[in-house]
Amino acid sequence: MVSKSCDRCERTIEFPDDRAGSKVECPYCGDMNMLPALSGVHEPAGVATGRTDRASAAGYPPDTGPEQRVMMVRPAWVRSQPFRSIGSMVLAAGGLVLGLIHLIDRTAVPGWAAIIAILAALGFGGVVAWWWIQSLSAALEVTTKRTVAKRGIFSRSTSEVLHDNIRNVRIEQSFWQRVWGVGSIGISSSGQDGIEIQMDRIPGPQRLQQVIDLYRPLE
Ligand SMILES: [Zn+2]
Repeated sequence: MVSKSCDRCERTIEFPDDRAGSKVECPYCGDMNMLPALSGVHEPAGVATGRTDRASAAGYPPDTGPEQRVMMVRPAWVRSQPFRSIGSMVLAAGGLVLGLIHLIDRTAVPGWAAIIAILAALGFGGVVAWWWIQSLSAALEVTTKRTVAKRGIFSRSTSEVLHDNIRNVRIEQSFWQRVWGVGSIGISSSGQDGIEIQMDRIPGPQRLQQVIDLYRPLE
């Protein structure tokens, strides 16, 4: 058995020898812990130490020790569809202004035009509000040990991938998404359940990919 005290709750955790030198989840608090390598067993050079160096050398929290949040990103709706977003906002505001003008001067904006304007304001305003709520209800959080995707406002669903289990991080960007600096990110896992994290309209997806790469073993 290999044992150590948990980085977060400080209870003693024990795992079979074949887990030595790898990351394990604390059965008490769920924190990720790096088990020490077995003494007398040759550890592959640079597996643990080299990775610690990569993250902290790049100015991010170290790969070992208690789990820490590294970064959190939310989908960027305006940036990922600027013409539609700004167009909708302008139309909503324009409808509202025409409606207000009607209240002041009924000859400038007749009643039927005011009704159309207000309906347009409500419609486009509703679309903008919906995009805004959508972007607030999703987030991708990268910690030193895992990447967690959160969705939903009322019923929250989360899925997570341990960085040690990541098989591939891929980015997809259309031409315009590249121009606006957004894209979708997909993370596939080689863990037992093969979780896939997929999130669209992520601002700066390359930087996110680089940060995740700092915390995962690269062949
Ligand atoms: Zn613990």
